Amino acid sequence: MTVAAADAFTARHGAAPSGVWFAPGRVNLIGEHTDYNDGFVLPFALPHRAVVAAAPASGPVSRVRSAQEPSVAEFTAASVVPGDVDGWAAYVAGTCWAFREAGYPVGEVELELDSDVPVGAGLSSSAAVECAVGVALAGLAGVEVDPTELARIARRAENEFVGAPTGGMDQMAAVHGRAGRLVFLDTRDDTVELVPFDLPAHGCTLLVIDTRAPHAHAGGEYGARRRDCEEAAAALGVPALRDASLADVERLADDRVRRRARHVVSENERVLEVVRRLRDAVDPRAIGPLLDASHTSMRDDFEITVPHVDVAVAAARDGGALGARMTGGGFGGCVIALVPATATAAVSASVERAFADRGWTAPVVFPGTPSDGAGRLA
Ligand code: ADP
Ligand code: MG
Repeated sequence: MTVAAADAFTARHGAAPSGVWFAPGRVNLIGEHTDYNDGFVLPFALPHRAVVAAAPASGPVSRVRSAQEPSVAEFTAASVVPGDVDGWAAYVAGTCWAFREAGYPVGEVELELDSDVPVGAGLSSSAAVECAVGVALAGLAGVEVDPTELARIARRAENEFVGAPTGGMDQMAAVHGRAGRLVFLDTRDDTVELVPFDLPAHGCTLLVIDTRAPHAHAGGEYGARRRDCEEAAAALGVPALRDASLADVERLADDRVRRRARHVVSENERVLEVVRRLRDAVDPRAIGPLLDASHTSMRDDFEITVPHVDVAVAAARDGGALGARMTGGGFGGCVIALVPATATAAVSASVERAFADRGWTAPVVFPGTPSDGAGRLA
């Protein structure tokens, strides 16, 4: 890739940056709304990346720019605290704050950011920015930071500085991702196992379909799902739904709470089953039915899908997909489809036709290739 962020830095400052760092967006293969239930998720890092070119600032102020934003943000990295910076720069300033809070030295920086991770599509452009800034700060300070610690720093920036109550999956995928591997994460203790996912060897592609659906009610509904899950765990007397079985769930009296819990418990089982199948190095086609079952569970039990994603999933299957599901928190965003390499054009065409027939904005379809997590580019 061309390193546009480095070129922009050099053009602006008349000198090359001290270094160039990156962190990727991610797609979750399976394991939706399991993270805040102490459960399992199985994301992978995308080839789409946030890239940061940076150098120590000569003055007492940090200046950060993004190729995707017109404004320049200024703040004092050595003393910035939550509330000082808002908007897009909060993701950058928040990472400076959280990095400092973790006990690492943070000096003032000149920083250029450039990202090709689609924003707000559920591919975690925000974690890509935080983790790219995090590895840049570590590089500038000359310190080694364990990837899981870096992910926790980045998550803290998002939770406590930006103020978004998200789990830790996005940042863990952004730092631990590897080419040809899935990041199997146990969110109870943050343990990670890299699981082989060699699609080309088996003549398969994983298509990512950005439905461009308008996001509706996502924030409020997310909170409502979390409360239903907490209520279910409390009623069952378990610390989290991770500790419940499907038989336990059937004892729940309230229909809605029972269906919510059934999604989480069955979704955890599906993640474990996908991992079992892929660990045995079987053909990845074997996971198709589990992707389908995950979608049905999100649609009927967890009720987080919308017409755009249901139509994309159905059309992908009609076009020859081996399995398809919505990925991400729901109420819009992306669908993934496991597709024989020979059928990628037919699946894309089927989804595009289904959207055109309804007069919807055309979806954006691209192959999701498991790629490397955060690191230094130059
Ligand atoms: P996503 O699902 O993409 O992570 P979020 O709402 O969590 O959606 O994060 C998107 C926000 O992250 C943007 O509104 C912006 O504030 C910030 N962001 C992401 N990428 C960039 C970028 N390239 N430049 C500046 N800010 C960015
Ligand atoms: Mg995000």
